[in-house]
Amino acid sequence: MHHFEYKNNELHAENISIKELAAEYGTPLYVYSAATLRRHFEAFDSAFSGLEHMTCYSVKANSNLSVLKLLAEQGAGMDIVSGGELYRALKAGVPANKIVFSGVGKKAYEIAEALKADILMFNVESVGELHRINEVAASMNKIARISFRINPNVDPKTHPYISTGMKKNKFGLDMETAKKAYKTAKELASITPIGMDCHIGSQLTTIEPFLEALEKLLSFRDELGEMGITIEHLDLGGGLGITYDEEQPPHPKEFGEALCKALEGKKLKVILEPGRVIAGNAGILVSEVIYTKKTPTKDFLIVDAGMNDLIRPSLYQSYHNISEVIKNERPEVDYDVVGPICESGDFLAKDRHLPEMLQGELIAVYSAGAYGFTMSSNYNSRLRAAEIIVDGDDVIVARRRETYEDLLNLEA
Ligand SMILES: *Cc1c(COP(=O)(O)O)cnc(C)c1O
Repeated sequence: MHHFEYKNNELHAENISIKELAAEYGTPLYVYSAATLRRHFEAFDSAFSGLEHMTCYSVKANSNLSVLKLLAEQGAGMDIVSGGELYRALKAGVPANKIVFSGVGKKAYEIAEALKADILMFNVESVGELHRINEVAASMNKIARISFRINPNVDPKTHPYISTGMKKNKFGLDMETAKKAYKTAKELASITPIGMDCHIGSQLTTIEPFLEALEKLLSFRDELGEMGITIEHLDLGGGLGITYDEEQPPHPKEFGEALCKALEGKKLKVILEPGRVIAGNAGILVSEVIYTKKTPTKDFLIVDAGMNDLIRPSLYQSYHNISEVIKNERPEVDYDVVGPICESGDFLAKDRHLPEMLQGELIAVYSAGAYGFTMSSNYNSRLRAAEIIVDGDDVIVARRRETYEDLLNLEA
């Protein structure tokens, strides 16, 4: 569910007309709905109300400071993967004891920053990282709380680029290695192992892989118990999918019920790291048709948003629903919707049926709230889009459009 709807044949975000936003702020334009963000967070978080739990929103999905503030006000913790994301989360007012730090390549300065802030825990992804954290913590006279990210070797049945919990992936530790790593961790002076973690992939549309991973982790926890290691925190990562096209992922409520049932009576503090399911359908990308172009084989809609604005179609062959911002009655055309970038991989959609579009008209690309702006770049020296949050009747400029000065700001 989201709050992008037609009123009098004009697309609106909550109470605000998209056409008016585009006129005021220009295109390409990311528009997020505050009510949708709040509702998605609430639906997800309340699905776990039967468990002692913490919902740590995955910052990389959409890290705009105003988005983080909005979620922090709802009580969200945060899952971060860099010093930059730590900086954002703290600026957004997230208490450090609600922050967990994931990622395979944490550098010493990032570890030090997180220890200084006193975050809840590090999700450690290698033995090398464990020793690095121990050294940094020792030098600061601190004790680092850690989990190991376990690679449970389950197939999430998603796109290979967003599948993370199989043997061949770079993430986490296999159970054999993890067992030794916990033993080492217990002996290191500046480390306390307090949890277990896994994140098996993204855009999962069934619950089974989560349950399969959970079962493996719970039996692993028993083995650790026999070694005298007590696990209090269980971090199950993120990964719950959304509807882009015709996928039918489980509702967070159903997902929560299944996990709560499997965790009943286990006395674990459960951490969840949803990203896409919170932000994905809470945002659209608005773009203007620059030209229409007919070739002997194709009809192209050349729009002012490119792969530098939204890379998911190019990178993962992802489907994003597209519609016209102002409804029209013209017959449908089979379009390739492409950007201005000098790459054949620069497309938003292929063979898409839309009513005939004219130069200057607007399209909306849906499900762009997660892994949209955060993956954008300045490729082709294009200025990054503005980001707007609509909250009822209010419009918040969450990020102004870049300027040419911004483009050269850091260059000699
Ligand atoms: C990306 C990521 C998430 C969020 O994944 P979604 O599919 O957006 O829910 C959670 N945890 C970790 C460790 C991640 O890398």
